[in-house]
Amino acid sequence: MTAKTLEALADVEAATVEVHDVHKWYGTHRVLDGVDLTVRPGEVTVILGPSGSGKSTLLRVINHLEKPEIGYVSINGELIGVKRQGERLKELSERAILTQRGRIGFVFQNFNLFPHLTVLDNVAAAPVATGRLTKPEAQELARELLARVGLADRTGAYPRQLSGGQQQRVAIARALALRPGVILFDEPTSALDPELVGEVLAVIKDLATSGTTLLIVTHEIGFAREIADRVVFIDGGKIIEQGPPSEVLDKPQHERTRDFLSKVL
Ligand code: ADP
Ligand code: MG
Repeated sequence: MTAKTLEALADVEAATVEVHDVHKWYGTHRVLDGVDLTVRPGEVTVILGPSGSGKSTLLRVINHLEKPEIGYVSINGELIGVKRQGERLKELSERAILTQRGRIGFVFQNFNLFPHLTVLDNVAAAPVATGRLTKPEAQELARELLARVGLADRTGAYPRQLSGGQQQRVAIARALALRPGVILFDEPTSALDPELVGEVLAVIKDLATSGTTLLIVTHEIGFAREIADRVVFIDGGKIIEQGPPSEVLDKPQHERTRDFLSKVL
């Protein structure tokens, strides 16, 4: 293995994520209404909330796929998507935003793999496109990452030849290929048949125990109880309550949290 591939496989420094007073609205619809959240390095945070409460928007704001009307996000102290100019925040260039986004892993509900690329090239593509590794180096890295998610034997397959659970594991390997300091998961198992959920949760659990900072939107309450350091309950674009699973899931303080849990448990 080359030195560069080894370096790309080494443990990444887990990131701190700070969401500071974020407001996001579409017309008069307030989707995020003053969200403050700090996630410490290596912390596993599960975000729960009803459909339409703003969970996906929050992840998209962290990745600067959406721009907040008010507030900002920083990762390891670096502002995402903007820079300070006096009292104001000024948008960064597209290129700078893409560079930042490369350091934030994002795993979508519907996998979003490149259909025309093999599994190996899906994982190898980004390190090559960003100039971090040569193609042979990136493919070597991709083989290692695919082995880590249990897909060493499917490197030559195309996404359509895989089950949903396998495709999502490829998507996770792809997110890891850029050595992200944090990985955001948006309902990673909700598009899967029930019998395929476990294999994806097992891979996420492996990441959780390896010290990566994770923010996971999921309705899998049992999984949240098992792996979350913190559970955050969102409703109507606001954090209603947060704390360790033993508090938020077992002794929720707010009526809205109790109501939500009674429906999903
Ligand atoms: P969740 O992920 O919790 O289900 P979302 O963050 O996807 O919620 O959406 C929160 C609210 O914002 C929903 O009411 C949704 O319809 C609205 N919304 C999301 N994206 C847009 C958009 N691009 N334009 C208008 N409304 C949007
Ligand atoms: Mg959503």
